Amino acid sequence: MLTLVLATANPHKQEEMKHLLTAGPWQIRTPQDLGMQLEIEETGPTYAANAYLKAHAWAKATGLWALADDTGLEVEALEGEPGLYSARYGPPGTPLPTAALRRAYLLERLQGHPRPWRARFRCVLALVSPQGSALFAEGVLPGEIIPEEKGEHGFGYDPLFYLPEQGRTLAQLTLEEKNRVSHRARAVTALRPALETLAQRLEANRP
Ligand code: IMP
Repeated sequence: MLTLVLATANPHKQEEMKHLLTAGPWQIRTPQDLGMQLEIEETGPTYAANAYLKAHAWAKATGLWALADDTGLEVEALEGEPGLYSARYGPPGTPLPTAALRRAYLLERLQGHPRPWRARFRCVLALVSPQGSALFAEGVLPGEIIPEEKGEHGFGYDPLFYLPEQGRTLAQLTLEEKNRVSHRARAVTALRPALETLAQRLEANRP
């Protein structure tokens, strides 16, 4: 059976991905399940490059197929910021801003810009083999940044990310509800046929 290691230490991403990947011919392992930890610098010039860096490091370290996600929030009024820098977005001189600080900084940067503050989440998944070959999939979720945080679920920028069709922020959705609409869910849906083909191929090649 195909064993996939989730190339992330982020417990929220792990929870979402595990739920999105239930009911497939594979088994999922987290770094904690394997008792392993890797420090990976996200130095790539694109989401795909960063997703590949993470998945490749885990595939190499474990000899398993690895799945990584790199996600960014792109705000139109800020010309696509924070984008690739979403995890490090903060006042100059703050190398590792907390999620709360990143949200506060985003609102600060948006002051003076007319609303609506249109935005999108972009998620790129990289599925990497133990030999280093890769498949990619992308999911985009359009929405709007609002000036006040709403909701207790989710993580990162979720309390500021409003979905007009739902009338709620991502943080006001349960895990199941977020996983019905999110950028990550869309990327997993796009990747699923390739994952199923891979699982069947590995099964057929078994001695
Ligand atoms: P990375 O993909 O782990 O590099 O995440 C980039 C940044 O986007 C981090 O600040 C995350 O907290 C944030 N982020 C990633 N995915 C989501 C999401 O689904 N909702 C809200 N914020 C997210």
